[in-house]
Amino acid sequence: NNEEAAARAAAANADSGAPTIFDRIIAKEIPSSIVYEDEKVLAFRDIDPQAPVHVLVIPKFRDGLTQLGKAEARHGEILGQLLYAAKIVAEKEGILDGFRVVINNGSDACQSVYHLHLHVLGGRQMKWPPG
Ligand code: IMP
Repeated sequence: NNEEAAARAAAANADSGAPTIFDRIIAKEIPSSIVYEDEKVLAFRDIDPQAPVHVLVIPKFRDGLTQLGKAEARHGEILGQLLYAAKIVAEKEGILDGFRVVINNGSDACQSVYHLHLHVLGGRQMKWPPG
């Protein structure tokens, strides 16, 4: 039934700690459209954009941050750097007047890649509440 299918999908989508496709993007083994990069952070365009601007901001070193829910005190600096990078991306993309930053945490929030990432969305009127 539907509930069992949903439970299976959620389990298939659990945080296994395995490497993700973002490791290959960081290593530049697979191409991405990079918007911003520094020593610690990479920002690249989402392959399935949900707004005219849809950029993912990720730490280059996952360091246990498969999802925000795994954050510990030692991650404070990189978490701040990611948020600041989201602002730089918004500025570069010309959407500083209106943009949204989203983190999907876990299967109930539809997280699909278990390497922490911030979605930076904009370039259209955003709606509230999100789905
Ligand atoms: P999540 O659903 O919050 O985990 O977001 C993962 C995002 O990664 C989705 O919006 C996907 O479209 C995006 N994504 C998955 N694979 C790639 C890729 O190879 N390049 C760029 N974005 C990707």
